[in-house]
Formats: sequence, structure tokens, C-alpha cells
Amino acid sequence: MMDCVTFRKLINQYLSNELTDEELNDFLAHLKSCPECRDELEINYIVIEGINILDEERSDYDLTKAYDRKLKSSEHYLSFRKALLTIRYVIDTAAFWAFVAALFYFLYNHYYILFSLLP
Ligand SMILES: [Zn+2]
Repeated sequence: MMDCVTFRKLINQYLSNELTDEELNDFLAHLKSCPECRDELEINYIVIEGINILDEERSDYDLTKAYDRKLKSSEHYLSFRKALLTIRYVIDTAAFWAFVAALFYFLYNHYYILFSLLP
């Protein structure tokens, strides 16, 4: 479980999408369990994004909504990555069993032909 100090060190990396999947997983888990860090992240987000928006002169932009979207997209990203890993595992496993089945099928046909050649 990630602690508050680690969490706060990773805030900037999170906001610039530089966390690894594992870091992101721990980061979001800590975020859910720690109200102080939630506030800290929101403040950081609003300050950093606020500066970007001032640069772009988009005064109609809703920062709180954008922040919610950012959090949701992180969670979606992470569940997407987890789904990908599961799919890859299933494909690897399926490929293995397909290979075993093909091998047995080949051997069966091979020996079947040999047997049929016997008088
Ligand atoms: Zn915390």
C-alpha cells in the first residue's frame, strides 16, 4: 500500500501520464482511501491545468469536471490494461492447447495411416 509521501511525490508524474501501470494502480488505490491526498491531487491538478488554460485562453473551461474526467479516464485506462493482460493470458493458454491438440491430431493421423498400411 502506497503512503502519503510517495503519493505526493508521484502527483506530477501522474498529471503528465508518466506512471507505470503498477504505480498507477497503487496511486489510484491510495487516492480512494485517503481524503487528504485527494484534496492535494485536486489542488495540484487545478493549479497546473489552470495555468495551461490561461495560456490557451479558454475561459469557459470547467476545471472540476475536467479533473473528474481525468480520474475516470485513469481508471478506464487501468481496467483496459488489466483486460488486455487477461486476454493475452487467455490467448497464450488457448494457443498452447491448440498446439497440443494439433500435435495429437497429427500423431493420430500419422499412426492411423501407418496402421492402415498394415496387411
Ligand atoms: Zn494519503
